[in-house]
Amino acid sequence: MKIAIAGAGAMGCRFGVKLQNAGHQVTLIDNWQDHVTAIQEHGLTVTTDDGQDHITPMTAKRPADVTERFDLVILFTKAMQMDQMLQQLSGILDNQPIVLTLANGIGNVETIERHVPKDRVVAGTTVWSSSLTGPGHITVTGTGSISLQAIVPEKFDELPALIAALNAAHLNASPAENVLAAIWKKAALNSVLNTYCTLFDCNIGEFGSLPNWRTLNDAVLTEFAAVAKAAHIQFDAAADTTLIAAQFDPDKNGGHYPSMHQDMAKKRPTEIDFLNGYVAQLGKKLGVPAPTNALLTQLIHSQESLRGIK
Ligand code: NAD
Repeated sequence: MKIAIAGAGAMGCRFGVKLQNAGHQVTLIDNWQDHVTAIQEHGLTVTTDDGQDHITPMTAKRPADVTERFDLVILFTKAMQMDQMLQQLSGILDNQPIVLTLANGIGNVETIERHVPKDRVVAGTTVWSSSLTGPGHITVTGTGSISLQAIVPEKFDELPALIAALNAAHLNASPAENVLAAIWKKAALNSVLNTYCTLFDCNIGEFGSLPNWRTLNDAVLTEFAAVAKAAHIQFDAAADTTLIAAQFDPDKNGGHYPSMHQDMAKKRPTEIDFLNGYVAQLGKKLGVPAPTNALLTQLIHSQESLRGIK
């Protein structure tokens, strides 16, 4: 398969190298010039669990330099970078490739649908992880899985072939039964853990040790449940709370600082508008107030401003 990874940061590079090692023809596409140049000149360096560095020669390009066509475009920008990436790639989308998003946050499918026919879009969630250590260098730990579904399943018969292509690269992909519900479930978890850990400058275990963590959690999830109900999206706040509490264990994710915390520390914009911010906005549109999520969004944006992040 000819595969473009559009947004080749931490996750895009991890997926890209695995897909290339499985025999797919992969092009990494990214706007960060130093990163693209480093991969072009020295290959992609992947540091694995055992501390070993693995260098793989890979094709890397800026969006403006991409002219070929692809069977599959995997969008792995941050949610707020997706619209720009799709605009930059508009010239190569005319052969109607499959466009897959596994990015975090709600609203990515709506962004993609502005550029790509709905029946070519596949969305999902993933628990793979990765860190961008520097230009041309990622650090990876553990394994993961992917759950995915076409946005118009009745008009898309390529899901088994797509899953087979991903699984040839040992990405552990399987079909989702209700991908929008899965996206909301993950976004709700991130809207609690990412947001509070960033505001309190703490890791997941420390958040879980707060005597009032449950009150803070419920304030976010009660609004998620009300907005999801009005939008006809399946959402179970109690199940999400159980999933969140399971992360506090030091043997699970207790010692981990969520990605929003890392973005803030590195002075990079956060995905808050696609988490708590999305629910606050959708609630406003549907006449369902979501003041806690609106306030948390403002608090994160204030912290971004104080750090000079645009
Ligand atoms: P990332 O921040 O590593 O990369 C996203 C984009 O930002 C890339 O285009 C990258 O080149 C650019 N970028 C990164 N650092 C930069 C710098 N210093 N200067 C200029 N540009 C820079 O994003 P990611 O972690 O791969 O996440 C992609 C999506 O996947 C997000 O929606 C994220 O929430 C989600 N996700 C991430 C993980 C993870 O472990 N990283 C896990 C699951 C889901």
